[in-house]
Amino acid sequence: SEVIKTVNLWKVYSDGTKALKGINLVVKEGELCGLMGPSGSGKSTLLHLIAGLDRPTEGKVFLLGRDITSMGEDDLAEFRKNNIAFVFQFYYLLEDFNVLENLLIVGQLAGLKDVKKKALEILSFLRLEDKIKHKPNQLSGGQMQRVAIGRALMLEPKVLLADEPTGNLDLDEGKRIFELFKHLNQEKGITFLIATHNTELSKFFDRIVRIRNGILTD
Ligand code: ADP
Ligand code: ADP
Repeated sequence: SEVIKTVNLWKVYSDGTKALKGINLVVKEGELCGLMGPSGSGKSTLLHLIAGLDRPTEGKVFLLGRDITSMGEDDLAEFRKNNIAFVFQFYYLLEDFNVLENLLIVGQLAGLKDVKKKALEILSFLRLEDKIKHKPNQLSGGQMQRVAIGRALMLEPKVLLADEPTGNLDLDEGKRIFELFKHLNQEKGITFLIATHNTELSKFFDRIVRIRNGILTD
């Protein structure tokens, strides 16, 4: 089934920049899909629209069969929380809290039960069990990104969108993050759409969608 579908998606920013010019994209359930293109080609804009973090100028976004473009802000926020996770290039961790607490807070804010058990399971899956008491500034870049992914996993997303998740990491750390995505894709059935311009990581994808000047080129 179709997890992500965009129909004739346009984004024109207020300064007149046409960032997306009629994007028609389908990502199917269980795909590990890459979104590749040069800097400024529209990758971030597309991911933000798919995640419902910004609204299109024209066109529609369907997620899990639901038209999110026609949802009001409250319904969209609820739908997003239950279905979509977003991982950024910069990790946005809570610096005053340790690794475990960074995950606990996500679950507590969402009113989940058995939050600690769940957080510890995820941290073990991410091989961070020996870092749970560390603060973010005591971690390597790769470890910080694993914590950010752990936060994203707390709400059991069906779709994980990532915008240059390894943009701040060296190639070895980047490969480990992509191995982790592959593992999550295979073990938990999460559908991925990952923007990157790192061609050395393209071998991890099932399929690559290419974008240039706001247009898909394949
Ligand atoms: P990428 O993620 O591939 O680097 P972006 O989606 O960030 O591309 O940007 C696509 C185009 O839209 C670029 O020309 C960029 O300068 C422009 N752009 C992005 N955000 C804004 C904004 N808030 N206002 C105006 N132009 C923007
Ligand atoms: P990774 O496991 O992501 O490859 P590294 O190899 O970069 O991590 O780090 C090796 C060890 O050094 C890890 O135990 C990590 O906790 C520690 N470390 C890395 N960067 C820092 C830092 N800035 N401050 C404290 N410890 C660090």
